[in-house]
Amino acid sequence: MPRYEYRCRACGTTFELNRPMAESSAPASCPDGHGDTVKLLSTVAVTGASSSSASSARPPSGGGGGGGCCGGGCCG
Ligand SMILES: [Zn+2]
Repeated sequence: MPRYEYRCRACGTTFELNRPMAESSAPASCPDGHGDTVKLLSTVAVTGASSSSASSARPPSGGGGGGGCCGGGCCG
């Protein structure tokens, strides 16, 4: 059974769990009971950043909704 390493974002501890691959992405609880944990990967593609806000980079996609054809005169 593969071993996965997790890190608790609440208290900062790291712990390992032996679980099947099917549950590798399932939420793991910290030994202290915290639920805010992240799975550590062997190959992490993190660019530096020791301890900054882990805000997910969103692509600046404008555009809004998909509809809105009517009103411009294209719907009849
Ligand atoms: Zn914890």
